[in-house]
Amino acid sequence: MEPHSNESLNRRHFTKKLAGGLGAFALTTSTIGLGALDACAQASGEKLGIALVGLGNYATNQLAPALQETKNCYLAGIVTGTPEKAEKWKSKYNIPDKNIYNYDNFDDIKDNPDIDIVYVVLPNSMHMEYSIRAAKAGKHVISEKPMATNLADAEKMVRDIKKTGKNLYIGYRLHYEPYNLEAARIGTEGDFGKVKVFEGSFGFKIGDPTQWRLNKELAGGGPLMDVGIYVIQAARYCTGEEPIAITAQEYKTDQVKFAQVDETIFWQMEFPSGAVANCSTTYASNIQRLFLSCENGYVDLSPVYGYGGIGGKTHKKTLELPAVNQQALHMDGIAYSLIHADYR
Ligand code: NAD
Repeated sequence: MEPHSNESLNRRHFTKKLAGGLGAFALTTSTIGLGALDACAQASGEKLGIALVGLGNYATNQLAPALQETKNCYLAGIVTGTPEKAEKWKSKYNIPDKNIYNYDNFDDIKDNPDIDIVYVVLPNSMHMEYSIRAAKAGKHVISEKPMATNLADAEKMVRDIKKTGKNLYIGYRLHYEPYNLEAARIGTEGDFGKVKVFEGSFGFKIGDPTQWRLNKELAGGGPLMDVGIYVIQAARYCTGEEPIAITAQEYKTDQVKFAQVDETIFWQMEFPSGAVANCSTTYASNIQRLFLSCENGYVDLSPVYGYGGIGGKTHKKTLELPAVNQQALHMDGIAYSLIHADYR
């Protein structure tokens, strides 16, 4: 339990745990509170410049629009291999030519004082290289999830970026989402007694068979790498514990489409307290749920891991929590913690 009740201290802990650099991996949820969301959105007057690397679906439809709402950071630059995209973004977001890079001159970003943070939004296997290059260019880095496609690459990212003195953050937005925060609070504060069973699923029906998500070299794996990670994280923040044992089963109905990556995976995780999690992820159909079963009650959220429309109930009542722009809060939280170094 959080030993201090002082609000400003809680906010410091929240930002440190959730927006802090590599420390974000040591997430505990005892300090999470909805009031702390305000801290992420606070304006300081100063705004940090973010450059997005890779102008695909997520950068175009979520991050760039979110950066129009942020208070502590703004869209300062872009890195793209497609000149037509550069032109479009330049006029749409008023980005000066000097802040537009391609993959050949990317490292020149080191000489650009407008860019404080480089946000890597490329296919999974490219996160490591571009994150390390960005840090070596003297920029703080946000890498999209999954951080890397294997443990060795993730450890190399941590090691190499630490040496630069820059911070590495992961684009994990649900740490700023009120329903997920409430489920985590109920689980870790014990409102309904001890957590006994966690059930979670996240999957979607994947389209285009030629996309990089189905290419093992670029994706690193299938739905588990892509969206199953949200279920793992939810089980961690709802129990406040790390799993000590895992079993898993893979199911495949389309050997051609899923020749290189998994189609559906079920897995079970055991936690030190005795809590167990039963989880699934798939590229075969749409599914999104979090069910937290405690000794004396439950939390039932669905949908729960997307950008909006999140909702659900406990055994006592329907939950009515604010809808937020997770991406804006996430980037603002990071920028705020960098601007106010004492928050880190
Ligand atoms: P996307 O395919 O829409 O975009 C990928 C971008 O990378 C494109 O602009 C493409 O041109 C560029 N690219 C550069 N080199 C490439 C190569 N060799 N092969 C393919 N593309 C290449 O993908 P996306 O959905 O925007 O996902 C990008 C990253 O963002 C992934 O790591 C994904 O996991 C992550 N993501 C995160 C969330 C979230 O909610 N946090 C949501 C969606 C995607």
